[in-house]
Amino acid sequence: MAKERFFLELEPAEAAMKAWPHVVIVGGGFAGIKAAHRLANRPVRVTLIDKRNFNLFQPLLYQVASGLVSEADVATPLREQFERARNVQILLGEVVDLDTDKREVVFNDRRLRYDTLILASGSGSSYFGHEEWRESAPPMKILEHAREIRRRVLSALEEAEQTPDPERRRYLQSVVVIGGGPSGCELAGSLSPLMRNSAERDFRQLDPAMCQVTLVDPGDRLLKAMHPSLSAAAAQSLEKAGVRLLLGGRVQRIEPGRLVLTRKADDGSSEEVVMEAATVCWTAGVRASHLGGLLAERTGCSTDRGGRVIVESDFSIPGHPEIRVVGDLCSYSHTADGKPLPGMAGPAVQMGGWVALDLLARLEGRTQAPFRWTDLGSMAVISPLSAVADLRGWRVSGFLGWLLWGVAHLGFMPDNENRLSLLVKWLWSIGTQQRASLLITGAPNQHMAVDVGLERAPLPVEADPAGAPETITA
Ligand SMILES: Cc1cc2nc3c(=O)[nH]c(=O)nc-3n(C[C@H](O)[C@H](O)[C@H](O)COP(=O)(O)OP(=O)(O)OC[C@H]3O[C@@H](n4cnc5c(N)ncnc54)[C@H](O)[C@@H]3O)c2cc1C
Repeated sequence: MAKERFFLELEPAEAAMKAWPHVVIVGGGFAGIKAAHRLANRPVRVTLIDKRNFNLFQPLLYQVASGLVSEADVATPLREQFERARNVQILLGEVVDLDTDKREVVFNDRRLRYDTLILASGSGSSYFGHEEWRESAPPMKILEHAREIRRRVLSALEEAEQTPDPERRRYLQSVVVIGGGPSGCELAGSLSPLMRNSAERDFRQLDPAMCQVTLVDPGDRLLKAMHPSLSAAAAQSLEKAGVRLLLGGRVQRIEPGRLVLTRKADDGSSEEVVMEAATVCWTAGVRASHLGGLLAERTGCSTDRGGRVIVESDFSIPGHPEIRVVGDLCSYSHTADGKPLPGMAGPAVQMGGWVALDLLARLEGRTQAPFRWTDLGSMAVISPLSAVADLRGWRVSGFLGWLLWGVAHLGFMPDNENRLSLLVKWLWSIGTQQRASLLITGAPNQHMAVDVGLERAPLPVEADPAGAPETITA
C-alpha cells in the first residue's frame, strides 16, 4: 500500500502535529544531526536543511585523501538516519538568507517559517585573506577536497612513472602539507607511507626514497593544543614515517607547484625558502560559515575574529531566544575558565544535544540544567598504527593511542554499515599494507591519459649561488 505523503511544514501528517512548534535546523553536521536525533519522535515538527544530502564524518577525511577508505565510508545519507522519525523532514538546499523579523529562512527560492531556528552550518577553510592560494593548495574540509588531494597525489605518481627526467620525478613525488594541527599531521602521516609503499610495490620506475612529504607549520611545535610531550611524540612518529618537518616556516606565497616561506635562521635573521612540490595541501585556517556574519547583519549580534557567533549561555543570541547557534559556528565562552570551547566534534555534538533537550524542557514547562561541557580529550593519528591522545590529562602515544583513537572514532560514527566497512578496511590495510580506494576520480577533463598529461607546474628553478633564495624540492 502506498505510504501517506505530506509536506511537514504545510500539511503535517497528523492533525496533532499542526499545533506542534516548528524547529528548523540548518546544517546536518555533528551538531545539527544530534539536535535532530534528540527531537525525533517528540512533539515538535523538525525541518533539517542541508546543502548536501549526507552527514560527513570530517575527522576521517584524511583517510579518503590517502586512499585508505572511500568517500561512502565517511558519509551517511541524512534521509537514512531519520527514516523512522515521522516528525523530521529533510530538505536539500542551501540557506542563503535569514529574515529574523519574520522568522523565516530563505533557500531554494522559497521561505520557510520557524518557531525556533537552530543554526549549525559549521565552518569552512580560511586562507587568511589569500583566497588566490586555494586553487594551488586545496583545503581538506569536504569530500571533494579529499578526493582532489588524492587525485593530485596519485596523478603526479602516474606522471612520474612515465617521466625519464629524475629531477621532474623528484618534483612529482613531492607533497607539502601546510598546517601542523591534527588534520595536517594526520594527512602528512598517512600520505607518506601511501606514496612510499605504492612506489615500492605498484610502480616500476619510482624510487620510494624520492617520495617526500613535508609538513610546514609556523610554530615551534606540532599539535599546539596538546601537551608538549605529545607534540614531541608526534614529531618523532612522523619523522619515522618519512615526513620532513619544517617548523617556524611562515607561508608568504603559493603558486602552482611552488611556495615561498620565511623562516628564522639559526642566527635569528629571517631567511626565505622556496619549495617545489607537485601537490600542496592546506590545513591551516578555519573560518565560520557565512551564515554567522549574515545573522550578525540581521540581528546585530556579535561575532569573533573567526566569524563565529558569540552566544549566550543557552546558545541563543541577545534579543532572540528563538535562535540558537551551535557547533563550529558559535563561540561559547560560558566555561569555567572563560575560554571558548574548541571547534571540535565533541563540543558540537554536546551543544546540539543540549539545545534540543532545552527546547523540549521549555515546551514542557521545565527548566533544563545549564550546559556543562564534558571534555573528552583530543586525539590525532600520526602514522599507521600510531596516534597521540590527551584524555583529560591521561596522555598516551603509539599503538595504544591508535587503539583508543580507533575505538573512539568507530563509536562516534553515526552509521553501523560505515562502522563495519571502516573496521574491515583498517584491518585489511594493517594485514596487507594495501589501500582500498586508490582511485583517480574527478571531472573527465581532469583524467590523466598518456596524451593528456597533467597540467604542468614549472620545473624547480636551480638555486642561484649568488644569494638567491634557496630552492628545495620538498
Ligand atoms: C579534516 C578535519 C578533521 C577533523 N578532525 C577532528 C577530530 O579528529 N576530532 C574532532 O573532535 N574534530 C575534528 N574536526 C572538527 C569537526 O569535524 C568539527 O568541529 C565539526 O564537524 C563541527 O560540527 P558542526 O555540526 O558545527 O559543523 P559540520 O559538521 O561542519 O556541519 C555543518 C553542516 O552544515 C551544512 N551547511 C553549511 N552551510 C549551509 C547552508 N548555508 N545551508 C545549508 N546547509 C549548510 C554543511 O553541508 C554541513 O553538513 C575535524 C575537521 C576537519 C575539517
